[in-house]
Amino acid sequence: MECHIGVISGDGIGPEIVAEAKKVLTAVGKKYGHDFIYTDILMGGCSIDATGVPLTDQAIAAAKASDAVLMGSIGGDAATSPWYRLPPDKRPEAGLLALRKALNLFANLRPASLYPELAAACPLRADVAGAGFDMVIVRELTGGLYFGARKTEEVDGVVTATDTLSYSETEIRRVAKRAFDIASKRRKKVTSVDKANVLDSSRLWRKIVDEVAAGYPDVECAHMLVDNCAMQLVKDPAQFDVVLTENMFGDILSDEASMVTGSIGMLPSASLNDTKFGLYEPSGGSAPDIAGKGIANPIATILSAAMMLRYSFDLDAEADAVENAVKAVLAEGYRTIDIMPRPGEPTDGIKKVGTKEIGDAISERC
Ligand code: NAD
Repeated sequence: MECHIGVISGDGIGPEIVAEAKKVLTAVGKKYGHDFIYTDILMGGCSIDATGVPLTDQAIAAAKASDAVLMGSIGGDAATSPWYRLPPDKRPEAGLLALRKALNLFANLRPASLYPELAAACPLRADVAGAGFDMVIVRELTGGLYFGARKTEEVDGVVTATDTLSYSETEIRRVAKRAFDIASKRRKKVTSVDKANVLDSSRLWRKIVDEVAAGYPDVECAHMLVDNCAMQLVKDPAQFDVVLTENMFGDILSDEASMVTGSIGMLPSASLNDTKFGLYEPSGGSAPDIAGKGIANPIATILSAAMMLRYSFDLDAEADAVENAVKAVLAEGYRTIDIMPRPGEPTDGIKKVGTKEIGDAISERC
């Protein structure tokens, strides 16, 4: 199979972690007989330096011409980088927002799973962490409160600010279908999260999710109120398979879920539209504090590449091979600095390695 992959290395640790993901993809391509053809795309601070803007029309066209885009991270240190003296719509992050919009990426997938080897980093009680968990949060990304009309006005000396939360049937249905498709490839359970006891938008959300669920008889559909979900994520995360939710609830819950795994350097993500196209990137940022030192953890980017194999190219065996190689390397004791045992934890068999070494180890085991 021939796959055209747009590559946004970006800023900070971006180029270092993307290089390792490409290394792993090359190993997979060699083993399974696929040709991964890469096109470099400029976005973020490096694009500002080269072109004056965080995303050019040419970069958007190159992303659209790709089958999928693999991204590192963008942005710099807000306190010291000259990029942050620019107006907000000219800063590195504006490039990513513009790209998501241009590609109509409405479904954001954030897996959160706990590796047994890293259970000590999990802030949950040992008995809860010990049960393990493996969930995917599917967050609606282009509608809801963050995209509704907003205004701030002063009437009779009193300032009032208003934001609007609205969802159409179409917006709900397309993201719900995505969640059920994903659940049918996993443990076959969708928990849809809303605030249907208060919000009209949530009542419509629940109705449409039920309609979509009727088309997936082998996938269990449960509804949960968002405040309860926030509690359940720390009380009993093992109950979740796919969590489906709207934009703002998903923003908050996906950060909560990522923190219970213990390490940002381990968490991949994907943003999908209604075709096979997706943008795949680690959940963390450009980590300017460790950029250029060769110590960043590339696993989130490598696992993002595995998601690309699974969701954009339907290469499930190849995605499994990458995920199993990551598990094997962790089981063998390889650790980058961010996932090293904390003081007092056992260090027997632990090998402290840098970005390249762990990338080599994973690609050798694919
Ligand atoms: P960050 O995620 O970059 O860093 C937070 C902490 O986590 C730092 O101590 C960093 O060293 C560590 N960290 C992050 N990724 C790591 C990895 N792979 N391996 C080891 N340690 C890692 O968050 P921040 O400092 O708030 O943001 C830095 C820049 O990244 C900002 O400009 C921000 O806007 C940008 N950012 C970009 C994206 C993106 O590209 N999608 C997402 C979040 C933040």
